[in-house]
Amino acid sequence: MSRLRDNPVVILGAGPAGLGAAFQLARRGFPVTVVERSAAVGGNAGSFEIEGLRVDYGSHRLHPSCAPEILADIRALLGEDLLERRRHGRIRLRDRWIHFPLQPVDAVLHLPPAFLVGVLRDRFTPRNNSTVGDTFASVLERGLGPTICREFYFPYAEKIWGLPPTEIDAEQARRRVGARSFAKLLAKLRNAIPGLRPPGSGRFFYPRRGYGQISEAYRQAAEQAGARVLLQSPVQRIVINGNRVAGVVCCGAGRGEIPAQHVFSTIPLPLLARLADPPPPSEVQEAAAALRYRAMILIYLVLEADQFTEYDAHYFPEREIPITRLSEPKNYGLAHPPDRTVLCAELPCSTEDAVWSAADSELAALVQDALGAAGLPLRVPIRAAAVRRLEQAYPVYMLGFRRHFDVLDAWASQLEGLVSFGRQGLFAHDNTHHALAMAYAAADCLTAAGEFDRERWAQHRLRFEEHVVED
Ligand SMILES: Cc1cc2nc3c(=O)[nH]c(=O)nc-3n(C[C@H](O)[C@H](O)[C@H](O)COP(=O)(O)OP(=O)(O)OC[C@H]3O[C@@H](n4cnc5c(N)ncnc54)[C@H](O)[C@@H]3O)c2cc1C
Repeated sequence: MSRLRDNPVVILGAGPAGLGAAFQLARRGFPVTVVERSAAVGGNAGSFEIEGLRVDYGSHRLHPSCAPEILADIRALLGEDLLERRRHGRIRLRDRWIHFPLQPVDAVLHLPPAFLVGVLRDRFTPRNNSTVGDTFASVLERGLGPTICREFYFPYAEKIWGLPPTEIDAEQARRRVGARSFAKLLAKLRNAIPGLRPPGSGRFFYPRRGYGQISEAYRQAAEQAGARVLLQSPVQRIVINGNRVAGVVCCGAGRGEIPAQHVFSTIPLPLLARLADPPPPSEVQEAAAALRYRAMILIYLVLEADQFTEYDAHYFPEREIPITRLSEPKNYGLAHPPDRTVLCAELPCSTEDAVWSAADSELAALVQDALGAAGLPLRVPIRAAAVRRLEQAYPVYMLGFRRHFDVLDAWASQLEGLVSFGRQGLFAHDNTHHALAMAYAAADCLTAAGEFDRERWAQHRLRFEEHVVED
């Protein structure tokens, strides 16, 4: 045990990845300190209150494809508070609504006829030469043909990542789009047929007190096992001695230097490079400056009504509607009172766009207009509106991003005592269960002797490459 005490671990960030690692390491006896810039845990997967009602940062659900050992821990931590729910969303396509997840009969009955004819024609038409190359656009066009791409994936991608699909790297399609060929699309449709449905398909897990309850439970369990969690303590500097990390300097509540034998970082990788002291070589700094995140504005409307619609989420791929998704947290299982419900609209943007600094009232009006245009006018009084902004909602895989990422990754990987993981730390689109899988893997690589097993980490990293994001 004394050898463990000689190996203090400082974890940067108290999102699911940071807290998952803290829990795993603390229960093995390592002295762990988590430093978090915000006043609450959970990162993008946290929860907070508006008008006394708990809500999340956009639509969040725990997918049943979560690794069994992680799901077992979450079940043990949350007990009966972990609800299992049926997915019940819909997608708007050319003034029509299609159930999401797709259901074969619903799709045939409700998809616009011209769309259906186009998809069937594409299914049996050999792809033409315009689909050569390796971009988001070409991968999807080769796999699914022009109709689904033109009507759904391309406008949606452009809204989410802010780039034309021809300027998005092919990796985005491979990591982000599960149904990127007709065979995979048909498999998804088959999975929706009762009797053929694999366990968990069409369902999700959700904590009774909001998605952030997962991170809050990990925090509590980590603290009970001896970890320290310092909130409102932004990391200002990563102290590097020779080729080894030696400590972390924070400002705010946890002001001062915390010595570390190991730094587990889940903060954005480009930020990590910017905080390194001494600074990394210029090519690493340039790579850090070149990687981009897409931001997101979340606009919440508290309605004086029991329910807005029966659906958990509405998806808006079309260009004319600026928001990409509208969720109603009460329909996920949150216990809101009978005379109140909350809507959360997701508006992806760049921090340089004028909309990023728009007033709350303008953003609330934008959502009302968008809902009106989508045939969902608000007919009940709005009790309150609130806005939250996420600066790092989605990594942007623009063409050539891999070159910049590799430079940063190589720099971080050669520093002794440092490991970077999680959605921000590996610049990955991953779900929460993927971020937790990375956390468990990173903790697994720290041996009882306090050595970080780099070979084992490299093997885990190969498995992370297979993560495909679930919607
Ligand atoms: C709109 C939206 C919807 C999503 N829906 C789902 C879903 O339905 N299901 C799902 O599984 N996943 C979903 N995700 C993804 C999910 O949010 C992430 O997988 C998860 O948050 C990743 O956890 P993480 O710990 O890796 O990163 P984060 O949650 O981003 O945590 C990183 C932490 O680092 C902290 N930090 C940053 N800088 C500093 C600093 N200088 N000092 C100290 N701390 C710092 C941040 O404050 C944050 O707490 C969604 C994401 C978004 C944006």
